[in-house]
Amino acid sequence: MIDQLIECAAKYLINSKYAIALTGAGISTESGIPDFRGPSGIWTKNPEAERKAYQSYERFTVDPKGWWLDRLTTRSLLGDLEQAKPNTGHLALVELENLGILRCVITQNVDGLHEKAGTGKLLEYHGSTLKLRCISCNSRFTRCEFDLQKLLEDDMLPPHCPKCHGVVKSDGVAFGEPIPSDVANDSLKEAWKCDVMLICGTSAVVFPFANLPRVARERKIERERRTDTGIAVMDNEPAVIIIEVNAEPTPLTEEGISDYLIQGKTGEVLPCIVEQVKRLSV
Ligand code: NAD
Repeated sequence: MIDQLIECAAKYLINSKYAIALTGAGISTESGIPDFRGPSGIWTKNPEAERKAYQSYERFTVDPKGWWLDRLTTRSLLGDLEQAKPNTGHLALVELENLGILRCVITQNVDGLHEKAGTGKLLEYHGSTLKLRCISCNSRFTRCEFDLQKLLEDDMLPPHCPKCHGVVKSDGVAFGEPIPSDVANDSLKEAWKCDVMLICGTSAVVFPFANLPRVARERKIERERRTDTGIAVMDNEPAVIIIEVNAEPTPLTEEGISDYLIQGKTGEVLPCIVEQVKRLSV
C-alpha cells in the first residue's frame, strides 16, 4: 500500500508545474534534533518547558539584555544545532530541487539543516537560530558577525544592528513573536502559486504556518468537461494536490485538507519518492 502511495506522489511531482515542500520538526528528528509534539517530543515529555517557551518573547520585549544573558548561558532544548547534520530526508528534497521539480522549501525549522543540505530556494518561516535578526529593519546576520561572548563579558548586551541601531535578537521566531513580514508574504505567494504541496514532518498545529496548506486547499481551477450528451460544462476543481509525509495523522489528514498521508519516516519515505521520480522519468 505504502509503495503505491509513494509511486502516486512521484507521478504527481513529475507532472507538476510548480511543486513546493513544507517542512517541520519531524524532518530533523532523524538528525538527532527532538521535535515538540511527536511521541518523544520535548513538549510531550515536559509540558512545563512549553509554558516557559510561551513566555520567552514577552521577556525579550521587556528585558532584551536578560533574555540574551539566559540565551548565552543556558543549553538549548534542541541541543547543539551548530553540530547537527542534514539527513536523507533533507537531501532528498535537494535532489528533487536539482531535478527541476521542487521549486521552494518553506520550513518551520530553526535548525538551519535545509541550508546545510544545499536547498537553494528556502524560506525559513520561523527563522534560524544560527542567524541573528534586527527586530527594527529585519536585516539578518550570521552569528559570527557578532562577538556575542565579548558583548557578554563587556556587559554590552543586547547586540545592536550596525545598519539602524535597532535591537538584535536570534532570528528564530519565538511563540507570540510576529512572523517577519518578508518571509510571511513570500510563503503566502508560494502557497498561492503551487500545484503540488509536499508536507513533511509537521503536526500542522502551529499558526500561521498551518494556514499555508489551508490557503492552498481553497484554490480552485476551472476545467472544461463534456457531459454524456457532448455538451461542454465548466467544473471547479482543487488547484493543488497536497501530500503529507508524517509519522502519524495530523489535523490536515483528519480535516481532509491533505489528499493523502504517507505514514512513515521522512528519512525513509522521501528518498523512495526520489527513486520513483527517477525511475518513472526515464
Ligand atoms: P511538532 O513537534 O509539532 O510535530 C512534529 C511532527 O513530526 C509530529 O507529527 C511527529 O509525529 C512527526 N515526526 C517526528 N519524527 C518524524 C519522522 N522522522 N518522519 C516523519 N514524521 C515525523 O513540529 P512542528 O509541526 O514543526 O511544530 C513545532 C514548532 O517548533 C515549529 O514551529 C518549529 O519552529 C519548532 N521546532 C523546530 C525544531 C527544529 O528546528 N528542528 C525542533 C522542534 C521544534
